[in-house]
Amino acid sequence: MTARFTVLASGSSGNAALLEVNGFGLLVDCGLHSRFLSARLAAIGRSWERVHAAVLTHTHGDHWKDTCLADFRSRKVPLYAHPMHLNHLASAAQSFDPLRAAGYARTYADGETFTITTGLTATPVWVSHDSDPTFAFRFDYADADGLAWSVGYASDLGVASAELVAAFAGVDVLAVEYNHCERMERASTRPAFLVQRVLGDQGHLSNRQAAEFTRAVAARSGPGFPSHLVQLHLSRDCNHPFLAESAGRNALADLNPAAVVLTAKQDAPARSIELARRPDAAARTAAVPGAAGVAPFPPRPAPAHPVLPGFEIA
Ligand SMILES: [Zn+2]
Ligand SMILES: [Zn+2]
Repeated sequence: MTARFTVLASGSSGNAALLEVNGFGLLVDCGLHSRFLSARLAAIGRSWERVHAAVLTHTHGDHWKDTCLADFRSRKVPLYAHPMHLNHLASAAQSFDPLRAAGYARTYADGETFTITTGLTATPVWVSHDSDPTFAFRFDYADADGLAWSVGYASDLGVASAELVAAFAGVDVLAVEYNHCERMERASTRPAFLVQRVLGDQGHLSNRQAAEFTRAVAARSGPGFPSHLVQLHLSRDCNHPFLAESAGRNALADLNPAAVVLTAKQDAPARSIELARRPDAAARTAAVPGAAGVAPFPPRPAPAHPVLPGFEIA
């Protein structure tokens, strides 16, 4: 089994990641123009030939592009999305109807695990964000010997919940947004409504919030999990990679000091993470020394009225 996870682009100008297992490639979001996505794939030695399916987290414009939908149709790549996402794409994307007519628009439902390809499953977890509904995903790969590895991916969310902590417990790779520094956001010259939007419960996670979430996931995971923390969707204006990185390292300093911290970029792919079989499933959620002191997260807020699609300036 060979597998790896690569963030191709992350930030409010476009998001995409590639999860590969045994030659099968799953795109997580497709928020770059197809031509630019091709260049990112080439930069990691891949091409569209290695993309076999895609999942959509939400319909903000930095997470999908019409040109990618056109490529999905011509390349017979199924797109998995929530039914409300498909409704939005039907009205907003020229390339969607041909994709759906060809049978490549598939649906998922909140909390219901579905199979992407042999051994690889995806579980969508609703998160609070102002393009409602928005989902985080847990990806699990299992073979005849059992669960091999797991990846948690949460790119856009205003607050993290106890449900999301539980859903991501025991992942090998925790990919979560470290969007902004609260102090920089408040001191920015951005319009007040935008600052409120970013800081609000349907906006984006700050370094502080993301660090608390990272710590809570590590506390619910076994020693050594997650092995990698990938920091997503950093604000260009209101964050610095070193602030995000130090927040992430501090979050894991006592619970999992050996974890590798990667900060994803907007303009270039992040380093690929090789995924390999780790200790048995029970070890993923074994007690971690020091974890008892980590405060629990509140339950997820009630979904707001649907707000599709909104916009993204973060
Ligand atoms: Zn976004
Ligand atoms: Zn968004």
